Amino acid sequence: MDPYTLDRDGLAALLERFGERAAPSYRVRQIRRWLARGVDDGAEMTDLPATLRAQLVEAFDPSPRVLRESTADAGLTRKVLLECGGPGGEAVESVLMLYPRSRRATVCISTQAGCALGCPFCATGQAGFRRQLGLGEILHQVTVMQRLLARGVGVTDAPDHVTNVVFMGMGEPLANLEPTIAAVRWLTGRPEEGEGFGLSARSVTVSTVGLVPGIRRLQGLGLPITLAVSLHAPNDALRDDLVPVNRQHPLADLLAACRDYVAATSRRLTFEYVLIEDINAGGDDARKLAELIRGGFPDGPVPHVNLIPMNATPAVPWRAPPTAAQRAFAAVLEGAGIPATLRRNRGTAIDAACGQLYADYALSSGRTLPAAEGAAQRLEAVAATRPAPLGRKP
Ligand code: SF4
Repeated sequence: MDPYTLDRDGLAALLERFGERAAPSYRVRQIRRWLARGVDDGAEMTDLPATLRAQLVEAFDPSPRVLRESTADAGLTRKVLLECGGPGGEAVESVLMLYPRSRRATVCISTQAGCALGCPFCATGQAGFRRQLGLGEILHQVTVMQRLLARGVGVTDAPDHVTNVVFMGMGEPLANLEPTIAAVRWLTGRPEEGEGFGLSARSVTVSTVGLVPGIRRLQGLGLPITLAVSLHAPNDALRDDLVPVNRQHPLADLLAACRDYVAATSRRLTFEYVLIEDINAGGDDARKLAELIRGGFPDGPVPHVNLIPMNATPAVPWRAPPTAAQRAFAAVLEGAGIPATLRRNRGTAIDAACGQLYADYALSSGRTLPAAEGAAQRLEAVAATRPAPLGRKP
């Protein structure tokens, strides 16, 4: 069993089964305090009696195994592929990004093995949906990195603990809503009470491609977590193709939910926008995006836009526009009073696209990417609808 999925009563029942004599609430608090420090191995819970430690080692799932690991950016970016238990022997990606100057260590975590939403430019989508991750499988991605940092990663001024968590790895967090919400509660709960890792809600970011009911649920939590919404297109016509879930939650509904989220939480929202050459990154796209955002937020603070140059992968030949075009796109937004940042792609030398490390692993271990063919056809179909770029025959 996974210790993070046991609530207090479940843990007390387990201790009773072990014949533990000390007051259950006392032992439960001890164990949960260890879990809140990221220690999930019974053997390391050193203030428990030896017999109980051995029983917990037997009962708890071991921490997930690291199947593959790669580093880039002089050790500042580290990507791991973690083995999940359960049927099919799944694997998911997590990334540790270090920012020594601001003393931050950010972990990017996955919430699903694969994804069903089928955005054609996304390597994770090409693997198709395999299964949801449970609470423990989500949190273990943080504890694995926590352990790594505590041991030391050989980077000057790197923090010795995780400071930020972003739900931007494989899968759509709001399509696995309950475990995602439970994970947010654990991340931000009070460690001294054995309720969580003690991160400030402001240092937790949940990313979504726009599942409106999920955004409204997050809003109801009353936690000032940051919401990052992936737009990727300035209108419904193109977004229907690039982010197919737009057909269920079109831009007008999505922007209304975003406005309500900002009003209820007083948090500034971030829009994510992948820049793809000849698809969504032209001057006209930038102007339409500026209009969309200005029109969507006429009164409140204008959301920040993160512009992410496309990471080409073997299965997705689309690429980022040249740097000058990226800067021009950002300038159009800035000119319209919309704060925009061109993001540097961390780890471009290590399969930086989300899902790419998994894709390499899957293919080299004899698995398939069941959604890859459909995605390739959709890529071609979308490209055919775009205006021919200058210098190329229509
Ligand atoms: S971009 Fe996100 S929602 Fe779309 S297929 Fe990839 S993981 Fe799923």
